[in-house]
Amino acid sequence: MSEAPDAEQRFREVVEAYEVLSSSERRELYDRFGHAGLRGGGFQPSAFDLGSLSDLFSAFFGDDLFGGGGRMGRARGADIAARVDIDLAEVATGTKREVPFGVAVPCGHCGGNGAEPDTPIRSCPSCGGSGRLQQVSRSVFGEFVRTGACPTCSGSGKLIEQPCEECSGAGRVIEERALDVEIPAGIHDGQRIRLSGEGHAGAAGARAGDVYVEVHVRPDERFVREGNDVYTTVDLTITQAALGTTVNVPTLEGDAELTFEPGTQPGEVVVLRGRGLPVLQGFGRGNQRVLVNVTVPRRLTEEQRRLLDEFERMSGAETYEAGEGFFDKLKSAFR
Ligand SMILES: [Zn+2]
Ligand SMILES: [Zn+2]
Repeated sequence: MSEAPDAEQRFREVVEAYEVLSSSERRELYDRFGHAGLRGGGFQPSAFDLGSLSDLFSAFFGDDLFGGGGRMGRARGADIAARVDIDLAEVATGTKREVPFGVAVPCGHCGGNGAEPDTPIRSCPSCGGSGRLQQVSRSVFGEFVRTGACPTCSGSGKLIEQPCEECSGAGRVIEERALDVEIPAGIHDGQRIRLSGEGHAGAAGARAGDVYVEVHVRPDERFVREGNDVYTTVDLTITQAALGTTVNVPTLEGDAELTFEPGTQPGEVVVLRGRGLPVLQGFGRGNQRVLVNVTVPRRLTEEQRRLLDEFERMSGAETYEAGEGFFDKLKSAFR
């Protein structure tokens, strides 16, 4: 959040933040999962922390519109992005993962002031040691004086002569940490879980940032996920489809036996109710839809060809008497 995004980006973020605040349900989604939690509503994820209502205003008007200088909001520690990969089957049950990340903590060697011990620290000449400079800003509401961090000393009010050897003058070092993260059942690929206050340390005792753990769901070649439903296909040979058969079909909880009646058609769909994925933060589960594919022989021996020729001679229109058409069945798969 330290770099200044361009005005249009900022505006979009403010509008989004406003929309979040104006709906308690969305607010809850946002609080739990950040931007990704709002994906269902057509938002694009980006790295913007809502923080509080006052942050929302300061994003628009600058830090010091309301009573200048006193707010410590900007000194809040930065957020951290972490990532975790889970399997689709784990989405069905929810899971727990240890997530490692590097976090900035005050440097022990210099005590966090960034100077090598026993070397001088001067007061910044640009801002006279206050760390802040006034500047005039223009906005759609007119011109006003704004107080910002001094660029010479980055707001610290001090200039270091010999930077600390441990932290190169940053005053903070990166420490490796790991946290156990509960990943809720039904989570979607790309959603983020916010660990409040686990991010980088804030300056001068201010609140630490947050950790956003982005959850990636590994694709599973056996399933296609569509919301909370999963799709699978099952291959039946023409004889299995014609004579009826029982085969194993993969589900999120292991194989299940499925029986197909004689005369099963390609494009038929078997719905396994409640065998899809759980609704995130809700009740119930989606369904699994099993789409039948009938495989046709590609290579025939002389004997097989002869038998099929004979079969064809013995067949008439009644052999293939039509029920529901292929496309009607295909459509029913997506209902
Ligand atoms: Zn140091
Ligand atoms: Zn300064």
